[in-house]
Amino acid sequence: MTDIKKEEEKSLNFLEEIVEEDLAAGKYKSILTRFPPEPNGYLHIGHSKSIVLNFGLAQKYGGKTNLRFDDTNPVTEDTEYVEGIKEDIRWLGFEWANEFYASDYFEQLYTFAEDLIRKGLAYVDDSSAEEIARMKGTPTEPGTDSPYRSRNMEENLQLFRDMRAGKYRDGEKVLRARVDMSAPNMQLRDPIMYRIKHAHHHRTGDSWCIYPMYDFAHGQSDSIEHITHSVCTLEFVPHRPLYDWFIEKLAIFPSHQYEFARLNMTYTVMSKRKLLQLVNEGYVTGWDDPRMPTISGLRRRGYTPESIRMFADKIGVAKRENLIDVSLLEFCVREHLNKIAARRMVVFDPLKIVLTNYGREEEMLPVEDNPEDPATTHRQVPFSRELYIEREDFMENPPKKFFRLSPGQKVRLKSAYIIQCEEVVKDETGKITELKCSYLPESKSGGTESNIKVQATIHWVSIVHAITAEVRLYDRLFRVEDPASEDGDFKEYINPDSLNVAVAYAEPALRKVKFNEHYQFLRKGYFYLDKDSSEDRLIFNRTSTLRDNWVKEQKKQ
Ligand code: ATP
Ligand code: MG
Repeated sequence: MTDIKKEEEKSLNFLEEIVEEDLAAGKYKSILTRFPPEPNGYLHIGHSKSIVLNFGLAQKYGGKTNLRFDDTNPVTEDTEYVEGIKEDIRWLGFEWANEFYASDYFEQLYTFAEDLIRKGLAYVDDSSAEEIARMKGTPTEPGTDSPYRSRNMEENLQLFRDMRAGKYRDGEKVLRARVDMSAPNMQLRDPIMYRIKHAHHHRTGDSWCIYPMYDFAHGQSDSIEHITHSVCTLEFVPHRPLYDWFIEKLAIFPSHQYEFARLNMTYTVMSKRKLLQLVNEGYVTGWDDPRMPTISGLRRRGYTPESIRMFADKIGVAKRENLIDVSLLEFCVREHLNKIAARRMVVFDPLKIVLTNYGREEEMLPVEDNPEDPATTHRQVPFSRELYIEREDFMENPPKKFFRLSPGQKVRLKSAYIIQCEEVVKDETGKITELKCSYLPESKSGGTESNIKVQATIHWVSIVHAITAEVRLYDRLFRVEDPASEDGDFKEYINPDSLNVAVAYAEPALRKVKFNEHYQFLRKGYFYLDKDSSEDRLIFNRTSTLRDNWVKEQKKQ
């Protein structure tokens, strides 16, 4: 191993450095992190970065990770999402120490709020949302005090209890922290702690009509659970002083917040709100549409947990926002599938060939399942007189460097024989319908190879033995690099050709395909059985092509 390699292995990301310092200083016996999704949608690839980070950090340092549903907004949340999120985290390969819900802490949070009121650090404000916004000031001008800021403690306590009891309508009153209306950090200008919302909650039902805001739920939940390192994304940097303020004033367990850059990826939108629009407005078939950047979409498309974890490791943990090229994710899945996917032959756009000198009915040829695997198995593939090859593997008038089949030119059929094209048969419109070829019996693969050399090997299927399958070929869902930052609605930038469906002819071994099996269709890409399949109708999703064609395709246009 080289020194550079060793050096790389040793280098820690900034969060690992913090954790190591804290452990060395004896600040904690062990660390506790959390992953805190809001159950208002399915998880996307951005969340997987946070999952790998939070669970990975705890694993590395012998700590634990809680799963906490941040369910403080009754209107957008749903149990369907809770179940989906749990399935996705487990599929990624992680298990949480405890499953908690911020809503479990509603009573405790309420008590905290009364505590702050008693300490003169919170007050009930009757101002409207617009008035509160106006009095907030601007980053360069201080805010002005609300006329309700000086309400006395007893009155605040009574009003807050009345808020809880349901005496007021939505928006009539709020509870605010009494921090500093002239703080340069706008987050500290008396932030709202509670709002009134007469709405049904997916867990607490109708027991509450006041709900805590993010800033008064998140840090307190961290503290209740004794989270040591609360990792979130950079937009929460300005919230950190408030996070610390609440904990200090309540004198509760001192959890600490740390921030890292969220994952943004090219040709993708990465917000549940936007993904929900794609689902609701029918641009995709659901959250698990294989074109979606959701974990469930990637899984259905044939991504593996290993490939997503590899991706998360490669992008690392940074403190500055950036846009990651989606081809890095595609690279990771190819890397993994190349190792594990069984090879099969499937012809997408068939051209019939007849081997005029092949006298037998059929024979079975052994074909390697995975040349990348030292312990590869072999399957028996039927070979016969009439075969399909890809139409694009033949050219009647080939340019100089075309090494595949053309009149008079020889090519090898994968794991079978060398053939030569003798005659091109066309219909009345001039379309090629069939090729008459001869085969070289002595050229059988794996035998005492003849010394005839050919430049290319192509895949094939025996027509009588072939089974048909639907193949769904996906392209990027957006046609611009960063749809969310373009003018107008991001949906204007959807790629109209993100799905192409074709019927393909497959070797019969694929009849026995099972879910969870990954395949490489030779020269065509990686494929995975879709859940829409049935016994008599096989449907495959293309997980990815074999090489990165995107740049090449773009140049052609
Ligand atoms: P969205 O805007 O997509 O709804 P969110 O941040 O509101 O994202 P949450 O469910 O609140 O989604 O997030 C759960 C955790 O995942 C949070 O800690 C959040 O910081 C993290 N997270 C969300 N999106 C990303 C991303 N793109 N990259 C890294 N971490 C993310
Ligand atoms: Mg959120």
